[in-house]
Amino acid sequence: MNGKVSLQCLGAAKTVTGSKHLLRTPELNILIDCGLFQGIKSLRLKNREPLPVDVSDIRILLLTHAHLDHTGYIPLLVKNGFKGKILMTPPTRDLTELILRDSAKIQEEDAERANRNGYSKHKPAMPLYTEQDVEEALNYFETHNDEEWLTLSKNIKFRYRKNGHILGSAFIEIECYGKKILFSGDFGRRISEILDPPSVIREADYLIMESTYGNRLHDPAPPEEHLARVINNTIHKQGNLLIPSFAVGRAQEVMLMINKLKEERKIPDIPVYLDTPMGADATDILCRYTEWHKLSDHQCMDIWNNITINRESKRTIAIINQRGSKIIIAASGMLTGGRVLEYLEHYVGDKRNTILLAGYQAEGTRGRALEEGAHEIKMHGRYYPIKAEVEEITSLSAHGDQKEMLDWMKNIETKPKGIFLIHGESNALEAFRVKIKDEIQVEAVIPNQYEEIELFKL
Ligand SMILES: [Zn+2]
Repeated sequence: MNGKVSLQCLGAAKTVTGSKHLLRTPELNILIDCGLFQGIKSLRLKNREPLPVDVSDIRILLLTHAHLDHTGYIPLLVKNGFKGKILMTPPTRDLTELILRDSAKIQEEDAERANRNGYSKHKPAMPLYTEQDVEEALNYFETHNDEEWLTLSKNIKFRYRKNGHILGSAFIEIECYGKKILFSGDFGRRISEILDPPSVIREADYLIMESTYGNRLHDPAPPEEHLARVINNTIHKQGNLLIPSFAVGRAQEVMLMINKLKEERKIPDIPVYLDTPMGADATDILCRYTEWHKLSDHQCMDIWNNITINRESKRTIAIINQRGSKIIIAASGMLTGGRVLEYLEHYVGDKRNTILLAGYQAEGTRGRALEEGAHEIKMHGRYYPIKAEVEEITSLSAHGDQKEMLDWMKNIETKPKGIFLIHGESNALEAFRVKIKDEIQVEAVIPNQYEEIELFKL
C-alpha cells in the first residue's frame, strides 16, 4: 500500500486556543476539534482567514469537549462547505449547542454595539456567525458513547475515553492501520468533586498532548482554603467578589465549594449570584447525565442551594447596585466577553472589591492583563483603572498541571514513537518538552501552525 498518515495543526499550535488538528489518511481526513482563536488580536483575526485546506475533503469531525476554543469554529466550517459527520459524546452535544448559541449571540450583540457606538474599525462590524449558522451546523451533530469503538472506514476506528476535564470531555483514541493515535483534548484533573480522574491509557504509538500547564504545578493545598481566605478578606473590606468563570465546568465546581464552606461555617452566609444563563443551563445538563459524573442526585440539587441565578441581562445592574458584600460568578472565564464585563466595569475601580481568576488566562485576554498586574483595562472602547484586588487560584483550573500530565503519560507501556505538544504557550511547551525527554525519554515535537507532519508511511 502506498501513502502516509500525517498530522496538520490548523490551530492551538504554539498557542492555547483555536484547537483544530487534521489527521490525513488515504481513507479519510479527520478533523479533531474545531475551535475559535481567542485572546491576542493577531490570533482572533485568524478566525476570519480561510483554512488552508479544502473543507469539503474533511469527512469526519471528532470533538474532545464542548469549550469554545475547541468547538467555536464549527458554524464557519459548515458555512465554508463541510458536509461530513460531527461526532461527540452525548453531554458534549448538549453543552456544545449551548456554547455555540451563546457565542453567536455575543458576536451579534458585540457587532451591533460596535456599530452603534462607532468604535469598530470594520464598517459595518460583522459577527463571525449568527444563530442561524449555528442552527445549520447542528444538523451535522451525532453522538457516540465513551468506551465503544466506532468504525469510521476499513482501517480506521475510534473510541472516546473520559479525560476528567469537563462534563462529557474525552480522550480520542484512534486505531489507524494498526497504530494507536491518542489525542488528549484538554487534560483534566486527578482531583475533582464532580468528575472521575482521566482514564488510564496503556497503549499509544502517537500522542498529541495538550500543554497548557506544561511548565507549572498547581498549589497542592486544597483550593477551598484559599477560596475561604479570599472570600473572608473581601467581606472584611466590605467589597464584592467577582469570579470570572467558564460557564461550563468550573462554575459548578466553585458553587459546590462555596456551599460547602458555608455549611462548615468557614465563610459567612453572604449572597451568591450565578449571572450566566449558560452556567445555569450547563448545571441542568450536568444533573441530567448521571453516568458522566460522580455526584448523587442530592448533591446535584445542592449545587443550587443558596445561589441566585440570574438569567435576564436587565437584572444585572440591580445585582451590581445591591448593597452589602456578595459573590458573583459570571462568564466568560478569561473576560473576553459576556456579562462579567458589566460587573468588571463597575467593580474594577474600587479597591474594596476582589477579582478572583480561577482558570487559565490566555495571552492577550483581559484576564491575562489582570493576572500580570496591568494598571488599566479596556472594555467596550473605554479604559478603566484597575484598583480592585486581583487574586488567582490555579488549582481551581480544569487542566492538569505538569506533574499530573507526566504521571499519566508514564502509564503508557508502549513507548510512543511520537509525542506532539499542542495547546500551550511557548514557555510551557518548551519546559514540557525538556521534562518529557528527561522523564519519558521521548523527543517530543512542537508543531508549527499549518505544518504537515508525517506520522508513518503505509
Ligand atoms: Zn477546555
